[in-house]
Amino acid sequence: MIIRLFASLLPFLLFSLALADPDDELQKIETALSEFGVVNAPKVPKILVYSKSSGFAHKSIPTGVKALRAMAEKTKAFETEFSSSVEDFTSAKLRKFDGIIFNNTTRVEKAFITNEQRKELLNFIRQGKGFAGFHGASDAGMPKWPEYTKMIGGCFDGHPWNAGGTWPFTVEDPAHPLCQSFSSSTFSFSDEIYQYKGYNRSDLRVLISLDSNRSGIAGKSQTRDYPVSWVKTFGKGRVFYSNFGHNKASWWTPFLLEHFLAGIRWSVGELDGPMESLPLPAQVKTK
Ligand SMILES: [Zn+2]
Repeated sequence: MIIRLFASLLPFLLFSLALADPDDELQKIETALSEFGVVNAPKVPKILVYSKSSGFAHKSIPTGVKALRAMAEKTKAFETEFSSSVEDFTSAKLRKFDGIIFNNTTRVEKAFITNEQRKELLNFIRQGKGFAGFHGASDAGMPKWPEYTKMIGGCFDGHPWNAGGTWPFTVEDPAHPLCQSFSSSTFSFSDEIYQYKGYNRSDLRVLISLDSNRSGIAGKSQTRDYPVSWVKTFGKGRVFYSNFGHNKASWWTPFLLEHFLAGIRWSVGELDGPMESLPLPAQVKTK
């Protein structure tokens, strides 16, 4: 009887599972993480993952949540708590965390409205904790909250390189611990790539950049300086940002997940690696 009941419910159960994970995302993520080993951290850092968009709502937000959760479970490199509420950003609630991740959180200035809320977030980082931001996390700040842009390193100023295209990238710092998953100094990948305002190369260390010359699209930068992943400091804290993460597939691409993991670990001080600025590399002009 029980078996028959289960059998009759099975199609419904499978349908519900498919709805919860429409494109087998978790399976793709788990496959991407299959070679990832366990990290033996002496003290496992606790990280608050904030995933509320207050501007453009990326469809890849749930994919990012799944990937970060699976990454934490597989590697034991960090523990996660997930939030979509700005109410979680009080000093009392943040006390237990070592770092914060902003997962495609567009226009955070519309969520962090009061000076108090803004101070809580920025002081958390300033006082020596970690921050890692992905894709839409930089679509925020200017002009309403310039200090946020200062913290993250740049503010979205359009995306000349659309999500459907495949773009050429340069690994500017191949020796950096955060770049060890890139097997060559250039690579091509499909994702939506930003140009920035409020960005100053001397304030941060660019790890990956877009090669606009080879992309055939000039963008706004006079020097064709289009950073994609970087590290920087903010007060005593460490900030890692990567522009990747618009396309869902970025969250199940092994070399990017390894880059993200290293960036997250670096932000909470579990990995070392230089953060001083690097000069703009010479680019081959093709156009
Ligand atoms: Zn996007």
